[in-house]
Amino acid sequence: MLHQLFSLTTFRPKKKFEPGTLRHSLHKQAEASLNSGINLREVVKLPPGENFNDWLAVHVVDFFNRINLIYGTVTDYCLEETCPTMSGGPKFEYLWADGIRYKKPTPLPAPNYVSLLMDWVEAQINNEDIFPVKIDVPFPKNFIPTCKKILTRLFRVFVHVYIHHFDRLVAIGAEAHVNTCYKHFYYFVTEFDIVSQKEFEPLAEMTRKICKENPPQLS
Ligand SMILES: [Zn+2]
Repeated sequence: MLHQLFSLTTFRPKKKFEPGTLRHSLHKQAEASLNSGINLREVVKLPPGENFNDWLAVHVVDFFNRINLIYGTVTDYCLEETCPTMSGGPKFEYLWADGIRYKKPTPLPAPNYVSLLMDWVEAQINNEDIFPVKIDVPFPKNFIPTCKKILTRLFRVFVHVYIHHFDRLVAIGAEAHVNTCYKHFYYFVTEFDIVSQKEFEPLAEMTRKICKENPPQLS
């Protein structure tokens, strides 16, 4: 039921893996482990013999799809009037810069910021020079830094949704689903040290709460 609800409010079309490719089977494997309800901290580990870049590519695309759906559930409530800044509570505000249209970090209303952010992520994952589709095409040198940037930016959507639209998640019964997605994301990025620790600050308390059964080894 929840799934249907999310499908109706899809914010952007889902990015799919080509059936028959290694990444498609890794994606299916990761999905099956998730559905079996096993420990999320274990699920994120690189399976023996698999290539880290493939594992990373699959997760970046999956997280993009899922965070896209989560944001889709609050888009009617995340408006220029309600969210004039891309904030995560009173202490944190994100500024947008893409080096093209916004050369300097610029304050924007949250819906505009998220829209630019999602467009940017989508452009990266659809760029075959960064995310090669064919198995014999190697990943470029900037692949890991680009993925770090993508995941760091996607995390900000979690921050905004949790801090400013949590009531909406509760109202539609999506809280548990979003928490699971958040945990999976958090365990993945901390397992491989992909997102800098300071980025987690706006959600530090919530992270401690929902990841408490398996406290992360934070320094
Ligand atoms: Zn908002």
